[in-house]
Amino acid sequence: MKAPVNKIIPVSVVDGPGSRTAVFLQGCNISCAYCHNPETQKLCTGCGICVDGCPAGALALNGKMVSWDEKKCVSCDRCIAVCPNYASPKIREMSAEEVYEEVSGNLPFIRGITVSGGECCLYPEFLKELFGLCKGAGLSCLIDSNGMVDFSLYPELLELSDGVMLDVKSWDPEVYRRLTGADNAVVKKNLELLWRKNKLEEIRIVCLSGESDYEEVLRGIVGLMGSPVTARVRLIRFRPFGVRGRLSGASEPDDRVMRELAAWAGEMGYQNVVLT
Ligand code: SF4
Ligand code: SF4
Repeated sequence: MKAPVNKIIPVSVVDGPGSRTAVFLQGCNISCAYCHNPETQKLCTGCGICVDGCPAGALALNGKMVSWDEKKCVSCDRCIAVCPNYASPKIREMSAEEVYEEVSGNLPFIRGITVSGGECCLYPEFLKELFGLCKGAGLSCLIDSNGMVDFSLYPELLELSDGVMLDVKSWDPEVYRRLTGADNAVVKKNLELLWRKNKLEEIRIVCLSGESDYEEVLRGIVGLMGSPVTARVRLIRFRPFGVRGRLSGASEPDDRVMRELAAWAGEMGYQNVVLT
């Protein structure tokens, strides 16, 4: 089973607890207005627009396919900047075994892997295979997900995974739709399921006043899971870096707003709040 791999970071300390290899798969099922990796959202359509602008001659159009020569690439990201389709030509179609081979080179330095995206749960069979291989090497396996794939359909994947870092981007369906273009019923269903199955590694909430109803998210989680909330909740300050479109010029919340939000969450019964 193969999946389109956007990149593999050999050792990351920001994609879950401890040092981990982070694997980013290409393609997403929503389009967040504040996405800071918009080039991971779509698969390349082979339009060819990026090919001529490559200063290193690393791209070529073969029919409807763009090929990328990793050895020639100088990582200038010019191709990503000009792509009108929120895609990247720098994608490797890799089998779970091939990804594991790269992961295994990092074994002395990592305690696990985290697979992210895009939305990695669009490739459940690939994940199952990869996690099976990593488990065999004693690695923990985390999923970083937008929650838009129904985890109840993939019990084996959930069983193999040590936990899910789940985005809860907003609570009100209309707010969620404006932010992502989709409905959030399945996110809430996943939140409840992961909590019940003890697979909720972390809840992630991006905070941007006027765009995400993060206070409603905090109230909603208490309503669903009860207080105190022992799950780790990461309040992520919106940052405009990498964002395209209508929120590219939005201002990030200041320190005071984030600190007050964390304090308020604590009063509501959140016992493990992290500010990022
Ligand atoms: S990042 Fe893109 S444009 Fe730049 S050298 Fe690599 S393939 Fe070419
Ligand atoms: S990466 Fe984007 S610009 Fe380049 S061929 Fe694919 S869709 Fe077109």
